Amino acid sequence: MKFEIVTIFPDFFRGPLQHGIVRRAQEAGLIDIRVHDLRAFTHDRHRTVDDRPFGGGEGMVLKPEPLFECCAAMGLEPQAARRAPGAKESVVLLSAQGRLFGQETAEELAALERVVLLCGRYEGVDERVGEHLADREISIGDYVLSGGELGALVIVDAVTRLLPGALGNQASAEQESFSGRVARREEGKPVSTCASGGLLDYPHYTRPAEYQGLPVPEVLVSGNHDQIRRWRRGRALEKTLRNRPELLERVALSEEDRELLAEIRQRQ
Ligand code: SAM
Repeated sequence: MKFEIVTIFPDFFRGPLQHGIVRRAQEAGLIDIRVHDLRAFTHDRHRTVDDRPFGGGEGMVLKPEPLFECCAAMGLEPQAARRAPGAKESVVLLSAQGRLFGQETAEELAALERVVLLCGRYEGVDERVGEHLADREISIGDYVLSGGELGALVIVDAVTRLLPGALGNQASAEQESFSGRVARREEGKPVSTCASGGLLDYPHYTRPAEYQGLPVPEVLVSGNHDQIRRWRRGRALEKTLRNRPELLERVALSEEDRELLAEIRQRQ
């Protein structure tokens, strides 16, 4: 899969893409990341990428021409093809006014062959870019950043984790918070590392079994996989109820989930 990042600060990406899973995914040839300097697509002596807003107002706005020219140089499919069902490419404009990025969008992007990430700066980007060049506008949260670069990094990381082979253990991606897979029992075999099924992940512990008088929950060292599975599901439900109750409305709860929730509510 190919990521193409368009930015006025190409050096911003020097460090963050050279660590951990994203680095290994590049080395393994699972992803290819190209960073394009927007100023390379200007034609004046000052390499101007911004201008004053029509109608007056604060700050400067990123001009449309360098962004359109940069994308034209990439040889993308026409916008109509990119917006059609089954498209393999998408041009994303990072924007505080975009649709909120979540695991579902990450999964959608992970199914593509090429994702272009346009990073805005200043007061934002000429609206014609959002309307006629980008296929979608994505926000990474309800706050205003100084530029789209951090958003681009968030998307590259979240999408890369979902690509087959990117994680040492593929099951991890299926069990993490927000993962759409539902907890399941294989035939006759209780699954103690149950998938989140759209909930927040359950709590994790590792050695030492006791640290500064703080023991790990006894059930986790019991060796009883069914009890471990039930405990983990209970803690995932509890944490979701406490921190992100709205998620509970979107997931398919099993009979056992409802029992566990009733117990949790009774305890509270
Ligand atoms: N005037 C804009 C507004 O109020 O919506 C904010 C512009 S912001 C200072 C500059 C650039 O940062 C944006 O063009 C966008 O690319 C990026 N940006 C800011 N907040 C973002 C967010 N929450 N998600 C993604 N990108 C963001």
